Amino acid sequence: INIPNATKLVILGHTGVGKTSLALRFTQGEFVDCQLSTIGAQCITKSVELPDNQINFAIWDTAGQERFHSLAPIYYRNARAAIVVYDITQKQSYEIAQRWVEEMQQQGDKKIIISLVGNKSDLSESREVKMKIAQQYAQENNLLFLETSAKTGEHVEDLFFKIAEMIPDSNPPTIEP
Ligand code: GDP
Repeated sequence: INIPNATKLVILGHTGVGKTSLALRFTQGEFVDCQLSTIGAQCITKSVELPDNQINFAIWDTAGQERFHSLAPIYYRNARAAIVVYDITQKQSYEIAQRWVEEMQQQGDKKIIISLVGNKSDLSESREVKMKIAQQYAQENNLLFLETSAKTGEHVEDLFFKIAEMIPDSNPPTIEP
């Protein structure tokens, strides 16, 4: 897919944390091959309407390639936003998420907006990652932070709207002289 003025957003994290489910829950759409489908990514688009701006997201999902961990940097090249997802019931996925955050901070675009997302908040009875701990890590690293549930939809729209609000306005309204 090739959409004009698209804002590239990548979703990263361990297998099974709910990356695909989050994208599908938000877009209510279907994945198609990305332009660079040789790297095994799938894409989906969705626009977010802000009061005086519209953000057209092109959401990239790894299509399982994250299993090999060293994702091709072309996967996240030119990404304006990265959502790093972990599963609140799986401590290991949180550790892997921290590694993704570091990689994005080092290799990503200078102005990339990084979000840390604890998914599966509906399963809090099996929680292994304390919200406070993740929140504090996020604060120290200047990350957006939310706990979501792709199953119930909790905070899924919030997440993408918060990111959209942080994308610099590419078409600022013209000011009449
Ligand atoms: P991915 O490998 O990170 O893309 O993860 P998937 O989106 O394929 O989800 C992995 C599994 O977790 C699937 O069985 C989903 O139905 C389930 N899942 C995803 N998100 C949630 C959630 O928020 N709550 C619950 N209970 N299950 C979820």
